[in-house]
Amino acid sequence: MPDRPAAPALFGSLERQQPDALLAVIAMHRADPRPDKIDVGVGVYRDVAGATPVMRAVKAAEARLLASQSSKGYLGAEGDQAFTDLIADIALGEPLARDGRITGIQTPGGTGALRLAAELVAMSRPGSTIWMGNPTWPNHGPIFRAAGLAVREHAYFDRALGDIDFDGVLDGLAAASAGDIVLLHGCCHNPTGAAFSAAQWRALADLVAARRLVPLIDLAYQGLGDGLVEDAAGARKMLAAVPEALVAYSCDKNFGLYRERVGALWVQSAGAATSLAVRDTLLTLARSLWSMPPDHGAAAVRTILEDPALAADWRAELAGMRDRIGAVRARLGAAHPALSPIARQQGLFALLPIDPASVMDLRERHAIYLPASGRVNVAGLRDETIETFVTALVPYLSPMA
Ligand code: PMP
Repeated sequence: MPDRPAAPALFGSLERQQPDALLAVIAMHRADPRPDKIDVGVGVYRDVAGATPVMRAVKAAEARLLASQSSKGYLGAEGDQAFTDLIADIALGEPLARDGRITGIQTPGGTGALRLAAELVAMSRPGSTIWMGNPTWPNHGPIFRAAGLAVREHAYFDRALGDIDFDGVLDGLAAASAGDIVLLHGCCHNPTGAAFSAAQWRALADLVAARRLVPLIDLAYQGLGDGLVEDAAGARKMLAAVPEALVAYSCDKNFGLYRERVGALWVQSAGAATSLAVRDTLLTLARSLWSMPPDHGAAAVRTILEDPALAADWRAELAGMRDRIGAVRARLGAAHPALSPIARQQGLFALLPIDPASVMDLRERHAIYLPASGRVNVAGLRDETIETFVTALVPYLSPMA
């Protein structure tokens, strides 16, 4: 046999990748021996003691599952449909949750819902464009590009004002073509905390309907902003205004189930007949992406929502988390004029009006850890640390704000 030329190594073309900026911050914080170090980087809820606890209702539901679950046999690609239908009542409310034009399946977290949404769009109309505000969650762009969508950005945030640049949003979307997808954060914007007002949602719904754009609403923090119903109001308004829409949902924050990967995707199409084809396509796509979503977290959520007492306890604990976030926001907002927008914003995140050099300085001189973008998780602060944080931060803030 003549020698064949050696094939180049399959993996030889791969290059080192930038480590995830946030994971790098976490690692540096962990390695810092200073006892008064502060982590406002990681994007999970923390209680007054700085812990990210398993919620009471989740613990109770898990105990019930442990005692009662008799099989780990496969479900279908749709996952736990009772979970999806129960959470639809909370996310979409009546009458949308019962609307025959809307179909939904369980997904591995909000990330899975976004990726499935992207694949559905790519399959429905290859080469579609999706618009997203700048800044947005850093994983949004990669998720949509991975599915072959073209990503375009529009303005979102005025850093000097600490508020939404709504004219910038409208101007940006004026360049969108009919059929383009528009990604909108349902509430608790990551990373800015700046959420659309009711009037802005109305204006957006009018624009999206008039220009025949397709909204994809990322609802990852329902209940951590102004309330469960309030946080879904924009999404519901949008769905009522347009024939076609998508909602990517995460239970990972509002049930504290992060690593269990609990989410859902709903798709609204023009009619009940189309909806059946949409559902078939979602299931086919899910089969090739993850076959079926992980069960445990969704089963815990279902167990909670099926039991009025557990559901009430979940709502109460969630309200407590929301109140704590609000209290930290109020204290930060009152501490300095440049921080005052934080009190008007919602959810875990705020974008501090400081530059990357100041972020580095805070890390080196004060052991305060956040990514270079200036995003902070306000729930990373406690009564005992908030004063230290503000005192360290103030020299980097503009006094004129
Ligand atoms: N959307 C936004 C805006 C997020 O911030 C996140 C999580 N950081 C997600 C979606 C994904 O959430 P999950 O952990 O459920 O995949």
